[in-house]
Amino acid sequence: MMKFFFPDSHDLVDPSFDFTTERRSQNRVRHQDDQYAHELFNEPPYSGILVSKAVVDGTEKGAGKYTTAQRQRLLRLGVREFFRLGPRFLETMGDCGAFAYVREKTPPYNVDDVITFYLDCGFDFGVSVDHVILGFQSDESEHSGIDADMLSEYRERQELTLELAKDFLKQHKQNKLTFTPFGVAQGWSAKSYADSVRKLQKMGYKHIAVGGMVPLKTNDILACLQRINDVRKRDTQLHLLGVNRCEHLLGFQKFGVTSFDSTSPLLRAFKDDHHNYYTRSYQYSAIRVPQVEGNDRLGAQIRAGVVNQEKARALEQACLKGLQRLDQQGGRVERLLELLREYDLLHDGRRDRTDDYRKTLIDQPWKKCRCKVCRDLGIHVVIFRGAERNRRRGFHNLYVTYHQFHRKPTKPVIRPH
Ligand SMILES: [Zn+2]
Repeated sequence: MMKFFFPDSHDLVDPSFDFTTERRSQNRVRHQDDQYAHELFNEPPYSGILVSKAVVDGTEKGAGKYTTAQRQRLLRLGVREFFRLGPRFLETMGDCGAFAYVREKTPPYNVDDVITFYLDCGFDFGVSVDHVILGFQSDESEHSGIDADMLSEYRERQELTLELAKDFLKQHKQNKLTFTPFGVAQGWSAKSYADSVRKLQKMGYKHIAVGGMVPLKTNDILACLQRINDVRKRDTQLHLLGVNRCEHLLGFQKFGVTSFDSTSPLLRAFKDDHHNYYTRSYQYSAIRVPQVEGNDRLGAQIRAGVVNQEKARALEQACLKGLQRLDQQGGRVERLLELLREYDLLHDGRRDRTDDYRKTLIDQPWKKCRCKVCRDLGIHVVIFRGAERNRRRGFHNLYVTYHQFHRKPTKPVIRPH
């Protein structure tokens, strides 16, 4: 068992959305009726949620995900009530969201700010204040490629993160706080990560979150974990903060990794060029049928008189109808693939996706998935079109990811490219 925490960033779907007419209920009240992934499925598709202070507060440069009213509601009601977790067995974790301020000289929060935020929200786990180090060195002769200024900045960030962790634990003990504290290890090489872990254990941490993982390749994460394992006490549990590739994590349990968080199953549903729909053995491409009205390239071509709007609309509708017919009545896919290619040349055209689409349409993986999204939506789950379909496909990916960690895998995941 490895716990999977899902980092919240206000990802909800509208249960009243009708996929045939593409209309919503007129009575929909967005903040009451829209559903989180843990509300949509009978069993939540993750072990818990991670809420970052930076996402709730917003940062100076980027807009926050929360309105002032939402932020106040979260702090007043606490995390369980705000996210309507109810009696579901879901754990909650708070962190700072250090990637949001990675370009700043120092973190914008002090230990008091962060502890107050964790207490207001009522998290089960709280992560110490940290500062990400960008510039991982895979080479074990680690100092060779780094200039002296960079190295001194890396060291400063690591020391600052350790000092903040020390202060965080001290205040946690003094005030007898009830959440479980995680100290953060930051580093720029496997050895420096291991040094951080050793020092955090010496301070008294039994739970350590390994930060800065987002840009790291799987082999680099593995190298860090092996090095950390040399100094790790037997009862020290590790959390990997923000990993990008979840499919390789199962083997990491032997290094003491008991939890991780990742947004990639959700984001890949609509941000990845190929791997949009997960199954346990393959990641399929979703079929792109964007709305004529909402597509920038198509809009520009229509305005310039290069593309006829009526023709584009007719193709869009023919693609959608063809896909639904295939789902309901079966039949050959070649004519449909030609239609999709014809429409693709209007709205995108960068490359021919026909082979990827053929695999999706012949294998029809949504018919084999037992999740509620696939059972309710049918082929709509693999149509790359609008937030309601795309986000639900992301929810399906969360479901597949979660169940990979709660069952023994039968086959390794094969990536198509
Ligand atoms: Zn599914």
